[in-house]
Amino acid sequence: MSASTERGLALFREVLDAPTASFFSSCVHCGMCADACLFFTETGDPKYTPIHKLEPLRKVWKQEYTLLGRLAKMLGLSKPVTADELAEWSPLVYDSCTMCGRCSFVCPVGNDIAGMIRKMREGMAVAGVAPEGVIGAVTRTVETGSPMGLKLPALQAQIGHQQRETGLTIPVDVEGADYMALLSSMEIVNFPEYIGALARIFKHAGVSWTLSSEAFEATNAGIQIGVSDIAGVLVQRIVDAAEKLKVKFVISPECGHAYTAIRWEGPNLIGRPYPFKVVHILELLAELKQQRRLRTSGRDERPLTFHDPCQIVRRGGVVEQPHELLAGVAADLREMADNRSWNWCCGGGGGVSANDRADPLRLKAFQRKKKQLDELNVGTLVTVCANCRTVLEEGLEHNHMDVEVIGLTGLIADHLTPDSGDPPA
Ligand code: SF4
Ligand code: SF4
Repeated sequence: MSASTERGLALFREVLDAPTASFFSSCVHCGMCADACLFFTETGDPKYTPIHKLEPLRKVWKQEYTLLGRLAKMLGLSKPVTADELAEWSPLVYDSCTMCGRCSFVCPVGNDIAGMIRKMREGMAVAGVAPEGVIGAVTRTVETGSPMGLKLPALQAQIGHQQRETGLTIPVDVEGADYMALLSSMEIVNFPEYIGALARIFKHAGVSWTLSSEAFEATNAGIQIGVSDIAGVLVQRIVDAAEKLKVKFVISPECGHAYTAIRWEGPNLIGRPYPFKVVHILELLAELKQQRRLRTSGRDERPLTFHDPCQIVRRGGVVEQPHELLAGVAADLREMADNRSWNWCCGGGGGVSANDRADPLRLKAFQRKKKQLDELNVGTLVTVCANCRTVLEEGLEHNHMDVEVIGLTGLIADHLTPDSGDPPA
């Protein structure tokens, strides 16, 4: 057995804590997780049953932590997990799981299968069976700070463009600002209007804010590949910048897993609480609206619907805010049949969209979203995650569907009441 496989299996043993062991022992093999997973529903292939994706980890648990498993191993009846098995499971753990958490949500005994996949990726990455695309994103993040290799001059160029568009100054490195906003590379490259929308909304609401030139990237590729050490380094970069600028809040952007990373996993990854609070942009917008500092007027007349990003809504707990905010600016909001915490994933979260090997499967899984959209007859799809937005656009194009995808923050900025003194959008 190679050294990397041994290290991977050692990590499997390390992540097999009491909750994980109890999850394996409490599985009643009901199969409900299969019907909750879009990779199973859209392919009908039983290998995509969520609990099955964990089989090598389950095997290690059984051999190491159960009496029967230990006996079987001693008697040579149960063989150790091999490098070939890990390689065979790599597509199941990385390509056919977005860590959307829908399986965890339906499991009648409360098994957090998505959380277990996250743990299993720790061992898989060390064993050297993570996909090339995800390894590339992690390497670029460590080297440049961005999974797309995007550096500060590229952000500065987009800031300049947005300043010209909005006529507003976009603050960078302002010490003592209340809020430090994070961005995702995908937003900066594909949807830079989000930066302008922040400037317009915060000017309107009188919010003191800044970007950091040292830590603007919210995406945490370490979590996607499953290497906690790297994930911790990336969180620490943000914490260092926030502490340097002495901000009270850090704003997680329109990015799904960035929110889970910085809000829920971050303090554990760096081993201490933050001296600031993390808010998702939607939480902040909802709060500003409640305080009547965010006032909108007029409504978008187009029939539209909302895609709930899994990591913000089901996994992150920001459930009602996007729907309430959208209802305030949309005249014809048509909710999907499975919405809010029951939403179906776009198919590209959890590093799947960074993994070229997964493209055919991801497009197949998109059929679930297509069915949801076909029921509604809408021409506009609103969401709050740049990764979802890109994956949705690719799926729509692949299926020749005439549906535009837009961001909620931008839509709200377009409806700010004009009495705020903003220049017209
Ligand atoms: S839903 Fe839960 S109990 Fe049922 S098979 Fe899946 S993991 Fe096991
Ligand atoms: S987390 Fe989502 S994609 Fe992964 S196995 Fe569960 S339902 Fe499927």
